[in-house]
Amino acid sequence: MKVNYADAVSLSTLDWRGKAAITIFFRGCPLRCPYCQNHPYLEEPDLVEFDFVKERIKKSRNFVSAVVFSGGEPLMQAAILPLAEFAKEFGLLVGIHTNGCYPEIEQELIKRKLVDKFFIDVKAPPDDPELYGKVTGWKKYKTVKKTPREITTAVIESIEIADSCSMELELRTTVIRDFIGSKEEISSISAWILGHVKNKEVIYVLQQGIPEYSLQENLRKTRILEREELYYLGKIANKFLKNVRIRTIEAGEEII
Ligand code: SF4
Repeated sequence: MKVNYADAVSLSTLDWRGKAAITIFFRGCPLRCPYCQNHPYLEEPDLVEFDFVKERIKKSRNFVSAVVFSGGEPLMQAAILPLAEFAKEFGLLVGIHTNGCYPEIEQELIKRKLVDKFFIDVKAPPDDPELYGKVTGWKKYKTVKKTPREITTAVIESIEIADSCSMELELRTTVIRDFIGSKEEISSISAWILGHVKNKEVIYVLQQGIPEYSLQENLRKTRILEREELYYLGKIANKFLKNVRIRTIEAGEEII
């Protein structure tokens, strides 16, 4: 079996707060978020043998307690189930970063007890397909085949599935000035989470997008949101949700 592999970080403490993890990045994604920083991973495949990725995980075994599968989009990989199975057999916790487009794979991972935490993107208010379409590059990029309504339906289903089992759940929004993350939009996302997610311990993270590396050229000159601005947005989210964090280059991850 082949894996569409991008890279790995042998020891990361950023990708799963509180855990030392190896993070595996895959190539490919069904979306084209204009602010995507990993866009070099989106187009060209680089197929490696399944065993190559297993070896990467094995090499980190002595100094990590978890593996994080990230991307690109890990749940579109045919190898995701056997890789998660391998990590579990190896005694590692498994975390998955996902854009929420593959609820059926998510369900299978849960059913087979192959995952310990989901980190799901909530790129815009899920009840606003038009805005979600803009933030995921629909219309602008032909590679985005799912309609905004199909994307939001899948994201909502993914969140419901993760919420229905008693595992930790982190939801994340990337914020880019004048593109996504106004105070009204953060209020709408937070209100949606409050109204739809039963797990009141859910963690909501506002991530500082780095426009400089955006897929869409005309976003690259956008001024990055400063830590104080993100903190202010975090306070708005905090009116709805208990566990809010911001993640910035200046100060790392902070609890609001
Ligand atoms: S930012 Fe968007 S396009 Fe880039 S990997 Fe994530 S979901 Fe895919």
